[in-house]
Amino acid sequence: MGSRDNSGIPNRKKRSKAWKEFSITEEDAEGKPLKAECIYCHSVVRCETTKGTSVFHNHLKSENCKRKRAAIEQTPNASRQIKEKLAVAFYMEIIILMTWSIWTARNDWMFQGIDPMVQQCKRKFMSEFSILLHRARPAMVPNMSVWLYSL
Ligand SMILES: [Zn+2]
Repeated sequence: MGSRDNSGIPNRKKRSKAWKEFSITEEDAEGKPLKAECIYCHSVVRCETTKGTSVFHNHLKSENCKRKRAAIEQTPNASRQIKEKLAVAFYMEIIILMTWSIWTARNDWMFQGIDPMVQQCKRKFMSEFSILLHRARPAMVPNMSVWLYSL
């Protein structure tokens, strides 16, 4: 053990903190990283170990990457934004059924070659939602019906 190679670059701590934000996409014959992909914006940067991790820090400071990260941080608010836009008590049912409708449209596309279309997806959603009316709390049904038939 010990003198493993003569390159002068021991294989030591290439895992500095910056590495948590990149995944290696290309290595040289010795398994040293050559290129790595940013987990936020998926840009690929060159990362020879001889150059240290400044390339990572510079990348994370770049405008493009900052913008992407900001967008990612926004994402958890998406369901809150949908909730506020819908402004109805049964927003969660809407989100779930809409997600389901999109999912089935995608499956039809993948497995049956049916082109996904907004109108078709909407019909699916409305049909599912009208079934939901039979199981909803009676007090909710009038509001839900009005909402459904206003679509
Ligand atoms: Zn990035």
